[in-house]
Amino acid sequence: MPDFTKYIKHAKGLGAKEARIISPKTIVVAEWVRMKCQFGCDGFGQSLTCPPYSPTPEFTRRMLTFYKHALIVHDGDYTDIHGLIPKLEREIFLDGYYKAFGMGSGPCQLCAKCAKFCRHPDKTRPSMEACGIDVYSTVRSNGFPIKVLNMPGCKGNYYGIVLID
Ligand code: SF4
Repeated sequence: MPDFTKYIKHAKGLGAKEARIISPKTIVVAEWVRMKCQFGCDGFGQSLTCPPYSPTPEFTRRMLTFYKHALIVHDGDYTDIHGLIPKLEREIFLDGYYKAFGMGSGPCQLCAKCAKFCRHPDKTRPSMEACGIDVYSTVRSNGFPIKVLNMPGCKGNYYGIVLID
């Protein structure tokens, strides 16, 4: 495996609590995730990085087969996962990993309202869940913590990922 230490260090330098290389084969994609976006999330249809605009679970499942590695990033207390992932993706891409592609967490909130086409395509990526990834199963099977937030104000665990070939 290539040495990805530099990207792990950079992710931590940008505020991540933890970052690690995992196998894309451990990324779980499921159709039910789309249902949770469509019925229950007030971000549905509000952002170009969310369903119905983001890739379907079927597309994501096929896309993952084109990658050998994934850099997973766990947020720290003040980590801007949404901003961090495009930066890491760009760094990895410029190092020659031309297929590098990142996914963050939650809806994009860079603009008050999306335009017909994204105003900042270099600064935003769809979230993992918007692409049909079961974030709970994926991070737990890789040894990271996550739990359902059942009270207002409890601290969550958020994740982003950069796919690398
Ligand atoms: S950067 Fe702006 S236009 Fe693009 S997805 Fe985010 S909110 Fe929408």
